[in-house]
Amino acid sequence: MSSIESVIQSGYFNDTLREWQCQNTYITSSNLMYPIFILDDEDIKEEIKSMPGIFRQGLKHLKASLDPVVESGLKSLLIFGVINRLPKDEHGTHADSPENPVIQALPLLKQWYPNLTIACDVCLCSYTTYGHCGIIENKYIDNEKSIKRLGEIALSYAIAGADIVAPSCMMDGTVKSIKQKLLEGGLLSRVAVLSYAAKYCSSFYGPFRDAANCAPSFSNRASYQLPVGSSSLAERIVDRDVTECCDMLMVKPAMMYLDIVSKIKNKYPNRPLFVYQVSGEYAMIHHAVQAGVYTLKNGLLEILKSMRRAGADVVVSYYTPEILAWLKHSSPL
Ligand SMILES: [Zn+2]
Repeated sequence: MSSIESVIQSGYFNDTLREWQCQNTYITSSNLMYPIFILDDEDIKEEIKSMPGIFRQGLKHLKASLDPVVESGLKSLLIFGVINRLPKDEHGTHADSPENPVIQALPLLKQWYPNLTIACDVCLCSYTTYGHCGIIENKYIDNEKSIKRLGEIALSYAIAGADIVAPSCMMDGTVKSIKQKLLEGGLLSRVAVLSYAAKYCSSFYGPFRDAANCAPSFSNRASYQLPVGSSSLAERIVDRDVTECCDMLMVKPAMMYLDIVSKIKNKYPNRPLFVYQVSGEYAMIHHAVQAGVYTLKNGLLEILKSMRRAGADVVVSYYTPEILAWLKHSSPL
């Protein structure tokens, strides 16, 4: 016979009771941010080979592909610029030139979708000849020059209409440099800074480099992205970025770093915490579904709930359109 102390199933024997046990892990449209790649060639729409079903597209295609997603309840977008036609140089000139695809897309997106919150990735790797996330001087990153340039780029995106600027470069002092620029530009209170604070040097970024055309031409990004096995180092960077007054934090990649998510959420419970389900995670799920390991809905929802359970408030996911379609039929998930 069961003893009173041993029976726990009395707390979750029907659907309503089971839901009560999962309050903080629900998924709604507010828990999702949708990343897209915008090309400098307005006529082109091309599938990214290593990310089946994900496209890089020029301005002419943007509205047709976003309309149904916004109609499904999309709340926020994260945009990356990709240049194929425009030249790259040592200074990343086209990261914020008038021809930059992000600068060109922002006013249009704001006009088409006035209620959509738009974040812009801020980095140099897609725009420099050497493909690193900061400015290189004599084969090394020049941190001061890098954060000055990144501040300028962030301000340009803010002026063009971004609600959030999201530095992904992992240069020391970037958040402060961007906040200073926003202050000078009179936009400090109207633009949020989402810091990719805990960004690991991951093998799961491979397909993204394909997508954003930003592989480094020499060396790797180990001098600024975090070593895979480190933990307290991520905490130090988060502490620093909080001190520099970032509005929101991010851990990247997502699924393999949920211990870090949990730690950061416990330390800063009031700061919205994002996780980026990166290109390699997308590809892994896609291929598992193709191989019949699980259905997309079952597998993906379990992964998303694990992220929410660890403490993530928002998941940046290429699967956002699919999740929003499910939410139309039952919300929250
Ligand atoms: Zn970068």
